[in-house]
Amino acid sequence: MEVEAQASDRMDMEDCVPTPVQREPPIIRRLDEAVINRIAAGEVIQRPVSAVKELVENSIDADSTSISVVVKDGGLKLIQVSDDGHGIRYEDLPILCERHTTSKLSKFEDLQSIRSMGFRGEALASMTYVSHVTVTTITKGQLHGYRATYKDGVMEYEPKACAAVKGTQIMIENLFYNMAARKKTLQNSADDYSKIVDLICRFAIHHTSVGFSCRKHGAARADVHSVATSSRLDAIRSVYGASVGQNLLKIEVSDNDPSSSSFEMDGFISNSNYTAKKITMVLFINDRLVECGALKRAIEIVYAATLPKASKPFIYMSVKLPPEHIDVNVHPTKREVSLLNQEIIIEKIQSAIESKLRNSNESRTFQEQKVDPLANSVSTKKVTSTPPSSFGTKPQKVPVHKMVRTDSQDPAGRLHAYMQVKHSSQMQGNSCLASVRSSIKQRRNSGETADLTSIQELLREIDSICHSELLDLVGHCSYIGMADDVFALLQHNTHLYLANVVNLSKELMYQQVLSRFARFSAIQLSDPAPVQELIMMALKEEDLEAEGNQNDDLKEKIAEMNTEVIKQKTEMLEEYFSINIDPNGNLSRLPIVLDQYTPDMDRIPELLLCLGNDVSWDDEKVCFQTIAAAIANFYAFHPPLLPNPSGESLQFYKRASSGDAEEGNTSHSADDIKEIDQDLLLEAESAWSQREWSIQHVLFPSMRLFLKPPKSMATNGTFVKVASLEKLYKIFERC
Ligand code: ADP
Ligand code: MG
Repeated sequence: MEVEAQASDRMDMEDCVPTPVQREPPIIRRLDEAVINRIAAGEVIQRPVSAVKELVENSIDADSTSISVVVKDGGLKLIQVSDDGHGIRYEDLPILCERHTTSKLSKFEDLQSIRSMGFRGEALASMTYVSHVTVTTITKGQLHGYRATYKDGVMEYEPKACAAVKGTQIMIENLFYNMAARKKTLQNSADDYSKIVDLICRFAIHHTSVGFSCRKHGAARADVHSVATSSRLDAIRSVYGASVGQNLLKIEVSDNDPSSSSFEMDGFISNSNYTAKKITMVLFINDRLVECGALKRAIEIVYAATLPKASKPFIYMSVKLPPEHIDVNVHPTKREVSLLNQEIIIEKIQSAIESKLRNSNESRTFQEQKVDPLANSVSTKKVTSTPPSSFGTKPQKVPVHKMVRTDSQDPAGRLHAYMQVKHSSQMQGNSCLASVRSSIKQRRNSGETADLTSIQELLREIDSICHSELLDLVGHCSYIGMADDVFALLQHNTHLYLANVVNLSKELMYQQVLSRFARFSAIQLSDPAPVQELIMMALKEEDLEAEGNQNDDLKEKIAEMNTEVIKQKTEMLEEYFSINIDPNGNLSRLPIVLDQYTPDMDRIPELLLCLGNDVSWDDEKVCFQTIAAAIANFYAFHPPLLPNPSGESLQFYKRASSGDAEEGNTSHSADDIKEIDQDLLLEAESAWSQREWSIQHVLFPSMRLFLKPPKSMATNGTFVKVASLEKLYKIFERC
């Protein structure tokens, strides 16, 4: 079944099936142009701060070196942005504020290589539909500038000549004057000005070659004032103050493996002396100020787990990716970007931060405790044969570091690389990490989940039964390869483990369903599938497996009843879990539980049967829990239904074709003519290799970020310790 991802909130046209009552169809009318534009404008300019962002980005694109912002009444009365950039040509003024007029993009292909902040040509136009816009500008070599005013996308009068200093000044007055409701809600909120100040601070520390200022109209002093500088650290210090500036660590990570991810990141992160109640996360991707909730959460977790004081961090990060790896066009405000290999990138950044923090934290502890200087130098310099005594490890011939195949910074572990030993900077076996991790109530996803107490309770239960050592294991293990169809081989410190991928993935999915509750994106099925028939299929399948023989009439009845149950709950399933059943009883949409992973669609019948059969609908909490479990089971990394062709099951593919061959050629013995069904074999091979790829590149990176392993996993065979490398090494040595 083909699938395509879609935002969950989009309405399906098929959903609006007319009622059978005979009536004239309503007339479809074109919306008034002005209404369309105002709706569109309201999307681009959501608050005063969105207008400021667009204006400042335009000024940056115009090669300005100085940008100043003046705001009155939180931006509702006045926003004025002045720059010293290249200005706007006189001839362009008449179309400046029409929709889709831009100097930055002319053909679709340009989108691939876009490096400027703007390209949609919508920002200025949008502003003219919800405010009064005045532009004053002068270009190089001109004696005077021009001033023009705009309304609803058009220039109101011929531009007037006026005195002007270098660059452009844009004034936005009476924002949302024609959107009463929006204006009213914003008037009551006092924090628009602080949002604008915050925005300018962020720009100021990234675009260090530009001096920024931001002040309230009539105020003598600016609330942000930065001068152009070549030092990022100076910029941060001048904008965020010395308390931030003196507690930062420089961080750099890069990866240039086209098969997994390719990016460069550099930035500054706060150290263990920094204290704050709220995280400050300033993220630029390809010089564009964006947000990335998943990365932010991943970083918060590292801080909570690594630093004893568990302060909220300050993070400045600039990530550079090949332009073709980001879709800058996913959001009208360009605030969110969609990245290729997001999970891998996040995982790498997370690991880099963790090792940076650990190293800095340890060297600090050493200094304070005045430990033998030798020990201190060992922790930073090259590995010697005696591990530092402060780690409490007995002296031994081979340093533990050398037994470690690879570290968790390298999620692309491979079985063949097993004997190739690599150094690990993280091999400090920091036992306090696990206990710190578990003692800190992780605030992952908080504030984003729906406010239902039942969901909150279920999430709390996950926290309360989380096993701290397993959390450390999952967070820092290296994936080596699949040992068989179900167990993966992992290395954690000097131990090897077998881990049951089905159990682990099921648990991860369950936890993800609850934390994404009511905010799923969705997979749209290209062919909506009839629920009742699918349940019937599942029942027949079950029968085959159990070798039972319920008659088909009975199965039909069961299928019908289950379908009825599900149909009655469609609204709830849609709203909370993005499972859409259309009025004709067809399944048309499924939730995305893990980004970049599409579940095995052959298991849809089983999912529907579980929803019909296994969910208890009476108690809210139990209901959500059982639905989450059903979805989790569907999403889990089960072995594909076709047997593994690289195992002993090759026989399966021979047998499948022997029947056909026999018909045409009866003179040979049955064994001779058993040919391999190539198509089926190919299908199986691709399913298995796809699964293995996803286990390595999607499942394990996501588990590192999100899984909280329950205590039961310590005893139910999910993890099996197979070897200790220290012992193995001793055995080798004796041989
Ligand atoms: P976009 O930035 O997507 O091109 P905008 O509506 O933000 O669309 O701006 C339209 C055009 O106006 C820009 O492409 C640019 O040529 C011009 N422009 C806007 N602001 C400035 C400015 N401060 N200095 C110079 N040119 C500007
Ligand atoms: Mg723009």
